[in-house]
Amino acid sequence: MIRLQNIEKVYRTDTVETLALNSISLDIAKGEFLSIMGPSGCGKSTLLNIMGLLDIPTKGDIRIADSATNHLSDKEMAHFRNRKIGFIFQSYHLINDLKVLDNVELPLLYRKASAGERKKLAGEALEKVGLSNRMKHFPTQLSGGQKQRVAIARAIVGKPEIILADEPTGNLDSAMGNEIMEILMQLNRTEGTTIIMVTHDEHMAKQTHRLVRLFDGAQVQ
Ligand code: ADP
Ligand code: ADP
Repeated sequence: MIRLQNIEKVYRTDTVETLALNSISLDIAKGEFLSIMGPSGCGKSTLLNIMGLLDIPTKGDIRIADSATNHLSDKEMAHFRNRKIGFIFQSYHLINDLKVLDNVELPLLYRKASAGERKKLAGEALEKVGLSNRMKHFPTQLSGGQKQRVAIARAIVGKPEIILADEPTGNLDSAMGNEIMEILMQLNRTEGTTIIMVTHDEHMAKQTHRLVRLFDGAQVQ
């Protein structure tokens, strides 16, 4: 589903140069649930952003869902992201002045789906995360675990083949973290969604199919 070959990422400013990723090669199968661990600053977010076409590597090749992505324009990348990839972040990234249902509908606005279609799909996504009873709430009226469930509903509303999750349980206590993990595992099992998750939690990483460890921008075996 995702193939990275010799990915290198250098961040350059006037004064410093940081090698954030050093020759990463990774093959992620369709339906795989992969976790990525490593100390702060080792390149986990950079790697996830590159897989999600939010950032481009300095060197190396990426194929996603059988398409080479190297030569896509910004607009084509945005289109590709919207169709193929759902994102989940540690701090939820919900829009606080939009109701839960409207937050979940957002990725569909980009696709110019009709209002009826958007409502139907968003309702289905909220049902999958067990939040049908919170559609008219605002994010500020929800607990952290509920906010993350809304963010998952938003990530899956367009039925993406891939979910990229950057420390999705990082702000949650262990009970709520486990709930989020259960939802991700269920999505992976029942819908076959490929999931790549950055985590600091060994216990959660052990529940996934494969663990990749990074250190200083390189993969440790
Ligand atoms: P992690 O997610 O594992 O904490 P990151 O991928 O965020 O690590 O960062 C990897 C390295 O790249 C770090 O040394 C960080 O300082 C550097 N880095 C990340 N983003 C930028 C940026 N936009 N500009 C310059 N350096 C960056
Ligand atoms: P938890 O104990 O799981 O963190 P909370 O105590 O934050 O949950 O919330 C319990 C319930 O009350 C949740 O279902 C949430 O939807 C609701 N709730 C929390 N804060 C508000 C609020 N400001 N307005 C309306 N409902 C709220």
